[in-house]
Amino acid sequence: MASPLDLHIAIIGAGMGGLGCALSLAKKGFKHIAVYESASDLGFVGAGIQLAPNMARILDRLGCWADIEKEATDVLETSIRQGSSDTELVHVDMSGIRALYGYAHCTGHRASLAGEMYKACLKEPAVRFYFSTALVGVDQFGPRPVLRLQERAAKKSRSSENGTNGSQAPVGKVGEKEDANTAHMTIEVDVLLGADGIKSATRGAMFDDLGLTTGEADTGQAAYRIMLTREQMAHDPEMMRLIDSDLVVRWIGEQRHIIAYPVANKTIYNLSSTQPDVHFAEAPSATYTTRGSKSAMLDVFQDFCPLVQRLLNMVPEGEVCEWRLRQHLELPTWIHGSVALLGDACHPTLPHLSQGAAMAIEDGAVIAEVLGRVQMAAPDSVGLGQQATSVRRCLKTYELLRKERTSMLVNMAFHSGRVLHLGEGAAREERDRQFAEHTTDGKKAIPDKWASPDVQKIIYSYDCVAETKAEFDHLYATVD
Ligand SMILES: Cc1cc2nc3c(=O)[nH]c(=O)nc-3n(C[C@H](O)[C@H](O)[C@H](O)COP(=O)(O)OP(=O)(O)OC[C@H]3O[C@@H](n4cnc5c(N)ncnc54)[C@H](O)[C@@H]3O)c2cc1C
Repeated sequence: MASPLDLHIAIIGAGMGGLGCALSLAKKGFKHIAVYESASDLGFVGAGIQLAPNMARILDRLGCWADIEKEATDVLETSIRQGSSDTELVHVDMSGIRALYGYAHCTGHRASLAGEMYKACLKEPAVRFYFSTALVGVDQFGPRPVLRLQERAAKKSRSSENGTNGSQAPVGKVGEKEDANTAHMTIEVDVLLGADGIKSATRGAMFDDLGLTTGEADTGQAAYRIMLTREQMAHDPEMMRLIDSDLVVRWIGEQRHIIAYPVANKTIYNLSSTQPDVHFAEAPSATYTTRGSKSAMLDVFQDFCPLVQRLLNMVPEGEVCEWRLRQHLELPTWIHGSVALLGDACHPTLPHLSQGAAMAIEDGAVIAEVLGRVQMAAPDSVGLGQQATSVRRCLKTYELLRKERTSMLVNMAFHSGRVLHLGEGAAREERDRQFAEHTTDGKKAIPDKWASPDVQKIIYSYDCVAETKAEFDHLYATVD
């Protein structure tokens, strides 16, 4: 009898979720993992990312946390400040997080997180990468999914160390059509995993086939992401205190805030803002990122304190990037046949809890666990049907394990943002009273959920693999 580790698995997208999932599968012992990525390389925007203990726990098991942590900053304290005056509303001691949860809460560079996961994947012969290769359709969802891929001809000769484009046929290739600019392939696999992010083509194909629609929840919010170098800040002692600290600062104001922290061994200071989405809402097409205008950015934060003004002013003209912050209504399903979604493809979130990438990496770890429990069958048509049924039930069990939790965190991030962005009035006074109360006793819940010890406990103590091991059997039994 074949083992589930013989399943042929295709992952769409080499982002945080796709890389984490490929590595989790390889470490579990799966032998055939193909990752298809539309970009010609990892291509991560320069930006910081918070690395929470629940993410670190998984990456440590996968063997790549130590190298990520080398460059990361342990966050020992957080300061939430009134943006206009720089007055501290609450100071949160986070120095006990490592002792409480086994891992520190860190800040790092996205390139370091993705790069180390990628390097770890390259050491796994089971994982093959196909860059410049986009999913353009799914012709069949079960028993064996058939996916249509489009390879950009100009990039066909590019190869990665253990994955190739063009020179080696992907496993399960069943058809091919080429024209002058593009090559189309049809691939048949046992499992298809859509880790293709917020604009997921896998989700689009799945919902078309199911006759379902997905609604975008209008967040009304956009973000600027800024990175300043140590050299740029060197002339300003107040800025140097920020980059040399182990501190996350959040400056808040009505409908806006900025979160900032050092990354890359404190050589870079990362700022990420949230403000009303004006430019994308006005844009005729559904774009997600755009080159922003420095003067528009300065305008949005014109009443923030001089320190913030000086930081924003340092961004070179032409280097302002604005992102639309998107979120979906909860999807009716993440699974169709032997196809599953993970990460932003199924639960995109506002960044206010810093959990989007963490949740995507957790999804991958859970998928590896559940697929390891697929009941294999004889390779005839009856057996194939039985096996596909088990694949579907395992994937549905993954959804049961993940959906309630990710929905809870997505909603919490949304509500936390609303509270952070309150304008003058009774609700804001109550919020600030709660901030002050925490400063006094160091324990009480904080309205900024990201920094609140009760919420940190729920998020950081969570071990998705342990939960899967404990809950799989009885959940699997509930799925048809
Ligand atoms: C401002 C901001 C700050 C954030 N801060 C944090 C933080 O501090 N901590 C945290 O944990 N999370 C944070 N997040 C969230 C986090 O970045 C995302 O949740 C995470 O990157 C999602 O990973 P993913 O793999 O699902 O999607 P992505 O990382 O977007 O990857 C999707 C990949 O799929 C590829 N792709 C797309 N379509 C196709 C196709 N058709 N065929 C092949 N490939 C395709 C894309 O090129 C991409 O490489 C933040 C997000 C924002 C916007």
